[in-house]
Amino acid sequence: SLTIGIVGLPNVGKSTLFNALTKNDVLAANYPFATIEPNVGVVGVPDPRLDKLAEVFGSQRKLPATVDFVDIAGIVRGASEGQGLGNKFLANIRESDAICQVIRAFNDPDVVHVDGKVSPKDDIETIHTELILADLQTIEKALPRLQKEARLKKETAATVVAVEQAQKVLEAGDTVFHAGLDPEPLRELHLLTAKPFLYVFNVDEDELVDEEFKDSQRALVAPAEAIFLNAKIESELIELDDAEALELLQSMGQEEPGLATLAHVGFRTLGLQTYLTAGPKEARAWTIRKGATAPEAAGVIHTDFQKGFIKAEIVSYDDLVECGSIPEARAKGKARMEGKDYVMQDGDVVEFRFNV
Ligand code: GDP
Repeated sequence: SLTIGIVGLPNVGKSTLFNALTKNDVLAANYPFATIEPNVGVVGVPDPRLDKLAEVFGSQRKLPATVDFVDIAGIVRGASEGQGLGNKFLANIRESDAICQVIRAFNDPDVVHVDGKVSPKDDIETIHTELILADLQTIEKALPRLQKEARLKKETAATVVAVEQAQKVLEAGDTVFHAGLDPEPLRELHLLTAKPFLYVFNVDEDELVDEEFKDSQRALVAPAEAIFLNAKIESELIELDDAEALELLQSMGQEEPGLATLAHVGFRTLGLQTYLTAGPKEARAWTIRKGATAPEAAGVIHTDFQKGFIKAEIVSYDDLVECGSIPEARAKGKARMEGKDYVMQDGDVVEFRFNV
């Protein structure tokens, strides 16, 4: 499955956030015998549609889609030169599908900042710089070979153009992602900054509702998405029952926990979407890439479903809720039979027909 690597300078609240994420671990809650990796948090993507489906189908349990967050320890200045944990750090990021930077914005004289002052802009730059330098090294190593190959192969010529363009962007201090370059022709280089980014600003409580402040931080990271939360409060929220948590959230002017927002944004940043299945046993959200076809979606449940795919009976979530049941949806002509070329839509409630 796709993973999001969590990075950030020391003392910005990464561990606090990650502990909160792992306490929310869906695997731990639903699969008691699953092997839980200490540095991976499998977080459910809250989906109120599952509650409704479970009601309609009388499902015993609800299984949301999940996002895997990986705690990547040890960014240090000089990581790109292989200092300290540098090499391991870069290797771990390379394996991630998106990069989530935790940025300290909270002010607390008791928590030392590694650079002596709280400055989200400088911290972002510090981390970007290490990633950019690592990518420049990758490019410098690969480019001579690619240029040689390009004399013989037309496809490689296009790669060289893309790589040289990326090099310019990086030399100017920008990331491939923020510059909006097409990652596709760069894929074989596995550049770190070509991955999608998202940013968690660990803020003080009053900053949570300070729209002007938040806009100024968003501007620092656009077009990446920014999430504002207080890691300490998040770790307290997960200890509370739903009613208490809601009360605390409302007292802070928040609609949902920061962790829930993080799960949603992370899921979106990875380019994923869900479709839904439901029955008496479970109501479940399954994860697919945007643009997946019906047989590909079936393959997420079981490879045999994909191989033997015949068709999919699909009712959109809104139609199902309006009709109240699948038979009623069929009677009203709201159930569609879709074939192997059908591109899945978010919120499709599906039953697959397949040969075994
Ligand atoms: P890491 O080094 O990035 O993993 O940071 P930690 O999660 O260990 O946090 C460093 C220190 O900052 C700890 O003492 C935390 O309790 C504290 N801390 C984390 N988040 C917050 C926050 O939102 N507000 C305040 N005031 N302190 C925090």
